[in-house]
Amino acid sequence: MTTEEAGRAFGDMPADEFRKHGHAMVEWIARFMEHSERLPVLARVAPGDILHALPESAPEAAEAFEAIIADFDRILMPGMTHWNHPGFMAYFSITASAPGVLADFVASALNQQAMLWRTSPSATELEAVVMGWLRRLIGLPDAFEGVIYDTASISSLHAIAAAREAAVPQVRTRGLAGRADVPRLRVYCSDQAHSSIEKGVILAGLGQEGLRKIPSDAEYRMRTDALRAAIAEDRASGMRPIAVVATVGTTSTTSVDPVAAIADLCEAEGLWLHVDSAYAGVAAMLPEHAHILAGADRADSLVVNPHKWLFTPFDLSAFFCRRMDVVRQAFSLVPDYLTTPDAARNLMDTGIQLGRRFRSLKLWMILRYFGAEGVRARLRYHIDLAQRFAGWVDADPDFERLAPAPFSVVCFRARPAGRERTEEELARLNEAILKRVNDSGEIFISHTVLRGRFTLRVAIGNLQTTDRHVRRAWELVREALEAESA
Ligand SMILES: *Cc1c(COP(=O)(O)O)cnc(C)c1O
Repeated sequence: MTTEEAGRAFGDMPADEFRKHGHAMVEWIARFMEHSERLPVLARVAPGDILHALPESAPEAAEAFEAIIADFDRILMPGMTHWNHPGFMAYFSITASAPGVLADFVASALNQQAMLWRTSPSATELEAVVMGWLRRLIGLPDAFEGVIYDTASISSLHAIAAAREAAVPQVRTRGLAGRADVPRLRVYCSDQAHSSIEKGVILAGLGQEGLRKIPSDAEYRMRTDALRAAIAEDRASGMRPIAVVATVGTTSTTSVDPVAAIADLCEAEGLWLHVDSAYAGVAAMLPEHAHILAGADRADSLVVNPHKWLFTPFDLSAFFCRRMDVVRQAFSLVPDYLTTPDAARNLMDTGIQLGRRFRSLKLWMILRYFGAEGVRARLRYHIDLAQRFAGWVDADPDFERLAPAPFSVVCFRARPAGRERTEEELARLNEAILKRVNDSGEIFISHTVLRGRFTLRVAIGNLQTTDRHVRRAWELVREALEAESA
């Protein structure tokens, strides 16, 4: 073989073959998206089923793409829980919208790695453009600079690291351990905050004791009086408060912390305010919900996840920061081989990771394809569907609602009228209802625990979900209660 022949033999899949399989895959995806409802929403496999159906070692010989796809259909498809199914109402319901899927397809082919401006001027500048669009849509001032990370967990980690950078002199060079000049540091969030905040605090070297969870009120919102008292108590005992994380749309109940009051306190105390609005932040696009971010203009940073309720294929988390210079101070580290003469922003300077995918492309295509009006109409529809569901719960004497439903998530449980039951009995009953509903394959819901009470949780947010699916979810819940009561 000549080296020229070797170059051809050892190259990528030939273009004609790519075209053939590519067309077939597009057809596969289109059929899947048209008929996603036909598949059971929750995977019906046991742990290990997929693992044991696949060989332990990679094949020595090349395989035909048809054979690979056949195994994908036969072995992997049954092990999928369908997040893009209209009956997916667990956790937070999300959508990989068609324009987002197409954008990711192209982004993979382009393989843009925007660590430096010159390694992808378009990905670097499109990110600034779409983050500006999103910022205006949710009503944040222009003083917030945006950067895209993979998840809210990572966005919040950067916020906590920036707060530490701002509060502790020379933390970048000297670290925290063994320093007599640095007291114990404290971050505050409510007892309803997402676990990612605690993980961020652990990773920032503050330890779990470095996070103080403030009690929430009857509607699961952080109690500002308790926050004020906790900060005062910590200062009196020699600790150094550095940051508060307020949540807009908590993970269990979607409650909204009083951001404006917390911002007042943070200003008075000189603390970094981070707003975690991973799920609900996009609702601020609706004039009737814009108040949820009141006071967030005075936050230091905010995260919102387009991969949650903005129809973006996983993953894309939007991090906005009013003090991105502090993030850069914490994370910018330029080795010799990455210095450039370009007078431009380099995305590698605003975070821990060097390489990054071309995520902005999907958000750009989605915002253009649906338009702001289209996005707002869809969010309103989801909220309306959830409010109807809440209404059915409220009207049924055998059920009770366990939290307000400000957005598209409803927390409730069965509590049959006529007979008193203990909390354990109610937990067992509702767990059994959950199992029956999820065994249906039509609807997938999840649960949480609120003040010790086992709670069923229905989340609406998929673009294919309609009134029919929400009615069916309620019907299945009712039927499950009847079956359990029989
Ligand atoms: C979902 C969620 C997160 C975590 O999101 P990831 O992007 O998966 O890290 C964090 N905070 C809140 C409030 C959430 O709802």
